[in-house]
Amino acid sequence: MTPATAAAPAPYQSYVYAYPHKTAYRKLTDRPRLSELWAGEPKDALSLYLHIPFCEVRCGFCNLFTRISAPDGLTGAYLDALERQAGAVREALGEREPVRFATAAFGGGTPTFLTAAELTRLCDIAEHRMGADLRAVPLSVEASPATATADRLEVLAERGATRLSLGVQSFDDTEARAAVRPQRRADVEAALGRVRDAGIPVLNIDLIYGIDGQSEHTWLRSLDAALAWRPEELYLYPLYIRPLTGLGRRAGTADPEWDEQRLRLYRAGRDHLLAHGYEQRSMRMFRRADAPAEGAEDYACQTDGMIGLGCGARSYTSALHYSFDYAVGMHEIRSIIDDYCARPAADFAHAEYGRRMTGDEARRRHLLQSLLQADGLAGDDYRARFGGRTPAGDFPAELERFAERGWLEPGQDPVLRLSPEGLAHSDALGPELFSPAVRAAMAAYERK
Ligand code: SF4
Repeated sequence: MTPATAAAPAPYQSYVYAYPHKTAYRKLTDRPRLSELWAGEPKDALSLYLHIPFCEVRCGFCNLFTRISAPDGLTGAYLDALERQAGAVREALGEREPVRFATAAFGGGTPTFLTAAELTRLCDIAEHRMGADLRAVPLSVEASPATATADRLEVLAERGATRLSLGVQSFDDTEARAAVRPQRRADVEAALGRVRDAGIPVLNIDLIYGIDGQSEHTWLRSLDAALAWRPEELYLYPLYIRPLTGLGRRAGTADPEWDEQRLRLYRAGRDHLLAHGYEQRSMRMFRRADAPAEGAEDYACQTDGMIGLGCGARSYTSALHYSFDYAVGMHEIRSIIDDYCARPAADFAHAEYGRRMTGDEARRRHLLQSLLQADGLAGDDYRARFGGRTPAGDFPAELERFAERGWLEPGQDPVLRLSPEGLAHSDALGPELFSPAVRAAMAAYERK
């Protein structure tokens, strides 16, 4: 392996799960029509994402687009708006070519904040308004322990949910409180029992490391508590403290000791899961080696063709990534949700905020999202997508730097793959692949 000689940046810069980040989106003054954006795009293996921006509590670390609780009638009004949006978007996709969804997901927020009857309505919107065949494709749903009730899980299982992701964060009550995710272990265990009883094939448990007071011992104890349920998937998240979040008072100050704690816990957690029959799929994601296959053959998370419904969801065509306005602060989020609920159907036929994708940005996105997976980036796939170009030809300086730091496995063809240290430093490597234009837009974004 190449020795790690070059100085590396701090390991926890940002979690890159989509590129470009929404803070690089801007108001689209021409409000392009969706029918024009989607004309000519492949529509036979789209992803469908429905966003529910409500939670019972706001976890201290969370910067997702969500609000705490909902006054009477708001979830109903939100679903009404979602239905209007679904109608407008489906019409924009047209009837000339076949429209088919290959995957579906309900995310948030906490989709199970909705009642069982509202979840039924959500599934109806996906099926009847959008035409997604939920029982035939992978359907992933996020839930919290308190809202993973038997009646809601029954609806989801019956409508075809194949994966239920439970945000546990820690099995240690004191750590859960420190992360401002107050919950009791007994309630978490009961929720896990209900998820297993519901028979949804894949259980994912989210856990967090780097919490104040967390030691390697308590971290492994949480992992063991999770392993007792033999989850098909586990996501291990480093704790981040970001501006405008509950824990945000500490945001923005470099803390090498905390970096060291997180790296240590990451390595301990990774090694523990590898020793217990799990495979590492990315820095955060581990999958039980004997878990059933993931479903749709044509599913590939880094392809274009995403339809997001709801006021925090993004949609992707090959030329434009778009969404609604974005905020982290509670006051702003509430007003964006209220604005969404009040919109007439005609508004949903246009894209309002977004970022146009150039060829360079599309190549960066593909490199970034492939390289951050343990399987890496297949050189022939890159060449086939981008007219014979190569990652080494397009990003020589970045790849050389990563190799010098020992972040790449030696040899760049046929597969460009991160080394174990590269995976550990995914949150430093990802941001280094942002283009100067995206970086500048993100820096100029005014947080609200
Ligand atoms: S982490 Fe999940 S449950 Fe907690 S506030 Fe954010 S979206 Fe809601």
